[in-house]
Amino acid sequence: MRYSLTIALLFLFLVQVSASTKILKIGIYNKNEPVEVIVQARDGSYTIYGNGQEVTKLDQKSIVRIENKNGLIHLRTLGKDLGSFALIEIKRSTWGSSMRIQRIDGDKKEREYNDDFIIKPKGQKLQIVNEVYIEHYVAGVVESEAGSKEPKEYYKVQSVICRTYALNNRRRHEAEGFQLCDKVHCQVYHSRSRANQDIQRGTQETIGIVIVDSDIELVTAAFHSNCGGYTCNSEDVWSGYLDYLRARIDENCIQEPHSYWRHTIPKSEWLHYLKTKHDYPINDPIAREAVLNYCPERRHITFDPSNDGIDKIDFKTIRYDLKLLSAYFSIEELNDTVILEGHGYGHGVGLCQEGAMNMAKRGHPYDDILHYYYNNVHLVNLSVIDFFRSE
Ligand SMILES: [Zn+2]
Ligand SMILES: [Zn+2]
Repeated sequence: MRYSLTIALLFLFLVQVSASTKILKIGIYNKNEPVEVIVQARDGSYTIYGNGQEVTKLDQKSIVRIENKNGLIHLRTLGKDLGSFALIEIKRSTWGSSMRIQRIDGDKKEREYNDDFIIKPKGQKLQIVNEVYIEHYVAGVVESEAGSKEPKEYYKVQSVICRTYALNNRRRHEAEGFQLCDKVHCQVYHSRSRANQDIQRGTQETIGIVIVDSDIELVTAAFHSNCGGYTCNSEDVWSGYLDYLRARIDENCIQEPHSYWRHTIPKSEWLHYLKTKHDYPINDPIAREAVLNYCPERRHITFDPSNDGIDKIDFKTIRYDLKLLSAYFSIEELNDTVILEGHGYGHGVGLCQEGAMNMAKRGHPYDDILHYYYNNVHLVNLSVIDFFRSE
């Protein structure tokens, strides 16, 4: 009996130690903090602490209002004032607990998050930080990024990318008192995963797995919606060369709706843009013809119609200026207009999401899909990285 109790306690200790290294601090409602929120337990229950002392319990029937009043955090239930505090901690009583949170001002859409919370005043508003087990966070982000209609194998792909990204960027908001924000600046995290059991399974079945390069460093796991048939090198879009972000042909996405787009622009406007922004010689007949009819056989990074390097224009600049869906397109003149026929959606670096989704649908395992888009990388468990690198 005593032996089994010791084993059980040791097991509990080990679980706690390993769990404590896998908690992320996510700033909720970042840059648009609420003044007041309502909270309620969704699953399990919580205890609310004010300045370190227990104030009240939170279950599925009770509702607590949390408001910044004159720089302090004021708590109340429907019938009772619970006091004002400089620091609020909301801690789950059981594993798997989740809390509903709804702001009173602004977007009232209810959110739901697992695990614990720390709330501090931020000026006249509330800074809410979700201290969340990394795998709960990953499932929530995957649902935001990939929706609920994909095969499980694709959720595994997106889970590994999301986990790698989170750990690689875990110091991004350090100065603000948390690690990552809940917006597209880091990764969109508007709720825990609720829509599809396969998302949580995809996260669980890849638990702890991240992508590293040949130096066992976490990679920049770039991805985009659709590459249009060719992905890009990292240095084609950003400044740095990364060995694992290499251009490649991708035939997995070219049947998808995002693979093709069309943009029509008056001819005079197109020529005016090239002349004023890029000093392009539109009055030279050969140069003029080159920018009115252009049909590349593959993705090019710069537009060099005369092939002499003199009138070179970066496609990504044109994309940015004209707000095009991608930097990969052909040009055709039609009467007084110019038609840009484009391929793909997004920057084109790294993993092509629609291509990866199709590979998953055709039965490719998640690791093959990741190796297809990321060159010379390894998939390893986090514990291996911890082994190589102590912090
Ligand atoms: Zn951020
Ligand atoms: Zn693609």
